[in-house]
Amino acid sequence: MQWHKNFPVLIIDDEIEATNATGRALGHIVEHLQSREFKVLLASDYDDGRLVFNTRADLGCVIVDWDLCLEDDGCDTERPIELIDAIRARNYRLPIFLCTERLAVEEIPTRVLEQVTGYFWITEDTPDFIAGHIEQAAAEYVAHLLPPFFKELVQYAQQYKYAWHTPGHTGGVAFLKSPAGRNFFNFFGENTLRSDLSISVPELGSLLEHSEVVGQAERNAARAFGADQTYFVTNGTSTANKIVFHGRVTPGDVVLVDRNCHKSICHSLIMTRVIPVYLTPTRNSQGIIGPIAPEQFNRDSVAAALAANPLAAGKTPEDVAHVVITNSTYDGLCYHVAPLEQGLSGFVGGLHFDEAWYAYARFHPMYQGRFAMADNPEAGDCPLFATQSTHKLLAAFSQASMVHVKDRHLGDPASRVDPKRFNEAFMMHSSTSPQYSIIASLDVATAMMQHGGGRALIGDCIAEAVAFRRKLRQVQEEAVAAGGWFFSPWQPATVDGQDFAAVGAARLESDPACWLLEPGAAWHGFDSLAPGHAMLDPIKVTILCPGIAPDGTMDETGVPAALVSRFLESRGIVPEKTGPYCFLMLFSMGVTKGKSGTLLAELFQFQRHYQANTPLADLFEDLVEHHPERYGAMGLKDLADQMHAHYRQNRMSVIVRDVCDELPVPAMIPAEAYDHLVQGRVEEVPLGELEGRIAAAMVVPYPPGIPVIMPGERFGPETRTIVQYLGVCQEFDGAFPGFESENHGVLVRREDQGLRYYISCIR
Ligand SMILES: *Cc1c(COP(=O)(O)O)cnc(C)c1O
Repeated sequence: MQWHKNFPVLIIDDEIEATNATGRALGHIVEHLQSREFKVLLASDYDDGRLVFNTRADLGCVIVDWDLCLEDDGCDTERPIELIDAIRARNYRLPIFLCTERLAVEEIPTRVLEQVTGYFWITEDTPDFIAGHIEQAAAEYVAHLLPPFFKELVQYAQQYKYAWHTPGHTGGVAFLKSPAGRNFFNFFGENTLRSDLSISVPELGSLLEHSEVVGQAERNAARAFGADQTYFVTNGTSTANKIVFHGRVTPGDVVLVDRNCHKSICHSLIMTRVIPVYLTPTRNSQGIIGPIAPEQFNRDSVAAALAANPLAAGKTPEDVAHVVITNSTYDGLCYHVAPLEQGLSGFVGGLHFDEAWYAYARFHPMYQGRFAMADNPEAGDCPLFATQSTHKLLAAFSQASMVHVKDRHLGDPASRVDPKRFNEAFMMHSSTSPQYSIIASLDVATAMMQHGGGRALIGDCIAEAVAFRRKLRQVQEEAVAAGGWFFSPWQPATVDGQDFAAVGAARLESDPACWLLEPGAAWHGFDSLAPGHAMLDPIKVTILCPGIAPDGTMDETGVPAALVSRFLESRGIVPEKTGPYCFLMLFSMGVTKGKSGTLLAELFQFQRHYQANTPLADLFEDLVEHHPERYGAMGLKDLADQMHAHYRQNRMSVIVRDVCDELPVPAMIPAEAYDHLVQGRVEEVPLGELEGRIAAAMVVPYPPGIPVIMPGERFGPETRTIVQYLGVCQEFDGAFPGFESENHGVLVRREDQGLRYYISCIR
């Protein structure tokens, strides 16, 4: 394969056009490279070269003219050193050659010699020799560029074999036989289909047995992510969580569960028929879910939680087979993991961090000590698990996910994670026909993070988020000083007593101390914290809208976030999630500078339309078309005022803060409630008649997508705020068609007296 020919050579030199000996020699080198089918890119100075490097991840080799810095008056050797450092920070293997004609090697700083692949004397070495040398270096580099599984898949797909096995489309050929199929083929392209192979290809190994290149790729990922064992999962973290549960617990076991959990955890509880006992996070008046208080992670408070749970009668902390915690939270709060482990050490059977949104944590020092696979072996004694949706914040196909296991080989041998036994659970939840392109994307996502790549890429995300946060804070402060308002980022107001906007970007990009949730700080609104317990991830930017003061009181006027999100969406900017007065933007690897500048510009636009009370018909054409009577005569500010009045009247900020303050009392385990559902012993009950009834399914308001009621829990005094919350949503949906709340587990019926919510309860 001549793959390296697809990787251009970058030459940074200003003499390429010159009619002197150097210029002629360079010209010959370019010709020789071109005759070897290389594409050559030229840059005339170091800055230009750096720009090309930053925008082209596909370079095969870089040639740097060292003498360039001698020609510029006043230019010192710092310039090329900076360039080479910058390249090496992102790519430690890309061949870099220095070319010089005036300097002897001993005059080139050691720091440079250490980092380059080699050097040429332009006018002495022959162009053919130099071009050949470059080709060899590029080929060698490219040959080791691809991670094991992807490389084998590419090779296999390029062999044009006749397949007599599944999938039945055989490399896409079957699609060509019908018009719809032909369009499908054209859209997805030949490589996608040719690499959609089935498990009958022995060269690629078996995911279920972790053999051959699949196994190699998983072991490589384990090294990169800091695990003892890594399992590639092709059905998302929803499945990864179920695998971990099925591999670790049996019916009747007690499992400690973060109440702020994803619904796949609830499904895991049902499938394994365990008794859940909850760890409860706090919420603030924006409805943002905070961390679980540090004092919940110890034997005494676990004993107290067990004693308070009627289903766990007679159980002791030693009966806790498994603990599952969401890290980081949806809103970007991440725990200092070691104290949690220490607190639970000595009695729990396993500790599982659902890191669906957090696969990048290991690759940047910002997150040091705040993820499951951190290197703190002395912290605890039970096996550790991390489940990560690689597709959510790294670059991989949807459903690409991983399970990482760290087995500390301590304690009871029966509770160790024996790969053979654990694999039974893996196979139970895996298709026998996994998607090979998903596996390849897991392999590539890993390679992207390795050897410093992750640090550079995540560093870019953090830098971009920090720049946006500083700018937004500055704009907001200026607006307030001028008697106006603007959106503001949810983040510490000060760092070491200094105003946030005044703290240098370099510090904010590198010092986790800037992002800690200090106990008692007003901006976050959570109580029960300890210093260092939780940190806000800078890349998850929650933007607050006016309407709720930090202490939770609701202002006279306000701008409900649903309107802002709708406006942004109409401009092609889609927030990750929207609460009553806040929305979340993720600064992931796909975000570029332009994107965050556009966001800021659109926020200004929104404000302008709000102040001008622009007719809704001009902004939300669809909405007005569907509900002309409701919105036809209204402006943006009119609607904001009405929505805010609705929330204010219903004291929304208090409700969202208190919604989960008290745990509902369980009447049966989730699995038993599910049995009733399967057997049809359920009925739909309107909100007003819920008292005393038992929920048959979980109720999950979106956002944040966290269950407020779990199956088997009884509606009673403890759930009044939850029912009240659902009541406010029900009325809101009736009053503001087109802005309906999303509540999974709630049946919505339009009746004569208006819109009504029903919840599925056990009969
Ligand atoms: C999204 C998510 C999951 C499920 O992940 P998928 O890859 O979408 O299946 C699990 N846990 C949490 C906390 C999530 O946010």
